[in-house]
Amino acid sequence: MSIAENLKIIKQNIPKEVTLVAVSKTKPIADLMEAYEAGQRIFGENKIQEMTQKWEALPKDIEWHMIGHVQTNKVKYMAEYVALVHGVDSFKLLKEINKQAKKHHRTINCLLQVHIAEEETKFGLDKTELLELLNSDEFNALKNIKVIGLMGMATFTDNEVQVRKEFKSLYALFKDAKTIVNTLDTVSMGMSGDYKIAIEEGSTMVRIGSSIFGSR
Ligand SMILES: *Cc1c(COP(=O)(O)O)cnc(C)c1O
Repeated sequence: MSIAENLKIIKQNIPKEVTLVAVSKTKPIADLMEAYEAGQRIFGENKIQEMTQKWEALPKDIEWHMIGHVQTNKVKYMAEYVALVHGVDSFKLLKEINKQAKKHHRTINCLLQVHIAEEETKFGLDKTELLELLNSDEFNALKNIKVIGLMGMATFTDNEVQVRKEFKSLYALFKDAKTIVNTLDTVSMGMSGDYKIAIEEGSTMVRIGSSIFGSR
């Protein structure tokens, strides 16, 4: 099936209040353009250099989301245009995003990445680190970033019970975090293999790649 057809099917499967991030990492410009022509305006990439090349080449009404792990020394390359950084997992990174955003007279929206999976390899804050960060004076002093919610990745498994449990834990943390920062409104969870469960568990933003663009 074509990219346009895949997009149509995904959109039928998600409620309209859930935001769809089309994850286009590794895919050529022509594929992104096909999704753009089908109406898609939000794209997710996981490498800053690749995202920047695509931003330069493509229409300027696209919202670029950085969904991958971010190295502090690369923030400067996306600070001018990035719409949302999903994978913020340290105060150090938040501080750098704030610094670079300020240079461009912008406020950059961020999600704090929380560790919900059983796998040791996934990045993210734990509950204590998350709540400490949100409560800290250093965090409140950053004026050029805005934390709008949380992001998490479930364990890569077909055990639906486990995936659901992990999404539930992220949603519960979102509620806890909201008692500290009451403007939080975004829970980024769910990918091609698990977005239906994620939406049932409260996701407001899904990041879908292979179901739109094909396998990588
Ligand atoms: C690649 C990626 C996705 C999309 O994965 P698919 O299984 O292709 O839908 C979502 N989120 C993150 C963080 C990713 O790196």
